[in-house]
Amino acid sequence: MAERGALRYRVQKHAARRLHYDFRLELGGVLKSWAVTRGPSLVAGERRLAVEVEDHGLDYADFEGVIAPGHYGAGVVLLWDRGSWEPEGDPVAALASGSLSFTLHGQPLTGRWRLMRMKLRPRERQVSWLLVKAQDGAARPPDAPDILDEQLRSIATDRTVEEIAAEAP
Ligand code: MN
Repeated sequence: MAERGALRYRVQKHAARRLHYDFRLELGGVLKSWAVTRGPSLVAGERRLAVEVEDHGLDYADFEGVIAPGHYGAGVVLLWDRGSWEPEGDPVAALASGSLSFTLHGQPLTGRWRLMRMKLRPRERQVSWLLVKAQDGAARPPDAPDILDEQLRSIATDRTVEEIAAEAP
């Protein structure tokens, strides 16, 4: 777990209308958030589309459970990773410039990563970034097992998406 004063890092696997992984970094008292459709990859250099979504409150960081139909984000939320993160340099300036390098202290995700903002195309309303693992000891070769297949259970409760759904009141 994060030591006192460390910035929170979370990934929530979200089985909504379409499955995605919500990647969240604490900054300035909120959780900066990106929806990663295909999920993060531990393969160095493999780029995963990360669509910028609205900031979430810190009180949402450890949420796991079922969001009822008709509500925003309806579906099952599984806490897939948690820990802390460390930006390289000034994170506010880095985000504004569209290139943020950082280290994750999570489980299963660790090591150095980068978020890069893509150029906004005409008529495009969503801001797209790429989430990329840097080459380091925590990176995996392309033929290694996919971390998304390896980790199907909650880091907090050891439950699967199906088990969380079944246990909803
Ligand atoms: Mn989501």
